[in-house]
Amino acid sequence: MNIRFACPVCDSPGEIDVPGRWEWRCPHCDHLLRLLDVDAALPSCPICGNGELYKKKDFPHSLGMAILVLACLASTVTYWLYDKWMTWAILIGSAAFDGLLYLWVKDVVVCYRCQAHFRGVAAHAEHKPFELTIHERFRQERLRREQWKG
Ligand SMILES: [Zn+2]
Ligand SMILES: [Zn+2]
Repeated sequence: MNIRFACPVCDSPGEIDVPGRWEWRCPHCDHLLRLLDVDAALPSCPICGNGELYKKKDFPHSLGMAILVLACLASTVTYWLYDKWMTWAILIGSAAFDGLLYLWVKDVVVCYRCQAHFRGVAAHAEHKPFELTIHERFRQERLRREQWKG
C-alpha cells in the first residue's frame, strides 16, 4: 500500500510504502510521524486515526474533461464538414473510451480528515463514495482548528 499525505505540522507532502516503513520524518520541519495500526482492510486512517474514509476513482477529472472537450471540438468540425458518420464515431468512441478508462483505473481511498491518499488497497463496503456532507463537517472542523491556532 502506498500512502501519500501532508505533514500534520507544516503541510509538506510525504509518502510511505507499507509494509516496510512505519515512520516518516518530515524533511521540512523534522516532525516524526508514526503510523498507527495499519490494517490491510483500512478501517481507519493510519495517519490521523479518523474512521471516516471514502473511495474514489484514481482518475484525474481534468483528463476526463479534456477527452470530452476534444471529442466535442472534433465532432463539431466533422459535423461542419457534413460527415455525420465520423461525428457519431467520435462521440460514441470517446464515450466508450471514457467508460473503459473508468473501469480500468483503480480505486484510491482518501481520508476525509487529513486528506491522506491510500493506493493499492482493496476498497470494501465500508469505504463509501465521497459525500459532501461529511466533507463539509470535516472542513468546518479544520477551519475551527485553524481559528484556534490563530
Ligand atoms: Zn513538516
Ligand atoms: Zn487521516
